[in-house]
Amino acid sequence: MNKHSNIQMQVHDLQISSLLPEEICETLELKQSFRGKQIFSWIHKGINTFHDMSNIPKTLRELLAERFSAPQSITLDTVQKDPDGTIKIALGLSDGNSVEAVLLEDVKGRRTACISSQVGCAMGCLFCRTGTMGLIRNLSASEIIEQYIILNTEFGPVSHIVFMGMGEPLANLDAVRRAIEVFRHPDGSYISKRKMTISTCGLTPQIISLAQEGPHVRMALSLTSARAELRDYLMPISKRYPLHEVKEALRLYQEAFSKRITLEYVLLKGINDADRDVKALRRFADGLQVVINLIPFNPGANLDFQEPSARDLEKMAGKIEDAGLAVTKRFRKGRSIDGACGQLATSLKKRSP
Ligand code: SAH
Ligand code: SF4
Repeated sequence: MNKHSNIQMQVHDLQISSLLPEEICETLELKQSFRGKQIFSWIHKGINTFHDMSNIPKTLRELLAERFSAPQSITLDTVQKDPDGTIKIALGLSDGNSVEAVLLEDVKGRRTACISSQVGCAMGCLFCRTGTMGLIRNLSASEIIEQYIILNTEFGPVSHIVFMGMGEPLANLDAVRRAIEVFRHPDGSYISKRKMTISTCGLTPQIISLAQEGPHVRMALSLTSARAELRDYLMPISKRYPLHEVKEALRLYQEAFSKRITLEYVLLKGINDADRDVKALRRFADGLQVVINLIPFNPGANLDFQEPSARDLEKMAGKIEDAGLAVTKRFRKGRSIDGACGQLATSLKKRSP
């Protein structure tokens, strides 16, 4: 690591948005614990400058500005709105990289922030546009937390969080754990564990760690194929953590947290939609409490798969139901702004640092 990236790390580490109230007090050597809570609460309300923290004494506001420079480390660069209501934002990071986050509203009025955990992703799933970027770097806990803060303050209250943006959240578990702890805090956003979902390509040791040590949020596995040979091809991580091990880890997770596990299934026309695929899916689901989330493949640059038609999607959903499994279909949200699943990708170093 060169000198510059060392400094960069320290800057990230010192971001105030990932600190808990008691840590804010510790860092600033404050004796009155309520001050930590007040500052924490302002930050998670999305305040832009320490100066505007009206119930904090001036000397303390000055100290904050000296120690942290700003309440947030990331900036809102661009906003794109789809006619269906989906909002996609691009966020600038302090080192010049950028990530994307999406706000989705469903028919029940649930407003879900889909947030990124990494710049790019190392897993290389063949059908995913983020995968084509490779891994640039992990996001810090602050950079994860601030995506939510920005969506919540700029576009109205957000009720749910899914770690389904760019990157593999379980490959950046420490930062994701910290972000969840901060999101849950009663003096801040106060989001319950049941309203947060981690989506993973199936990193077995990390699923087991979550089962044993928590936090127990909702779990989604990106399955896409339950046929080992096909999954090994589509999702190379499957060779390292084979399906039977992933299933065992999910079973442990379900023992610890009894909610249904979502199996995300990206429907690739002519690839994973045959009867034998449904049979394999049925076998994989056996012994687990699951719901299958059928996601139509979203085409992206250089991705060589075919998009299923609405009819193909209905047909597959019917077959899965006939096999006795619960199924939901993901709406094609945010298509016109590339804000749908697997379409998140950013070009590098767009901004100057
Ligand atoms: N890395 C994590 C979370 C981010 S991917 C994971 O893989 O679970 C979020 C979801 O988008 C995953 O379920 C993934 O299977 C899906 N996805 C990826 N590429 C897609 C594409 N081109 N079309 C539709 N869904 C896609
Ligand atoms: Fe990474 Fe998830 Fe995309 Fe696979 S599907 S490349 S794990 S972001």
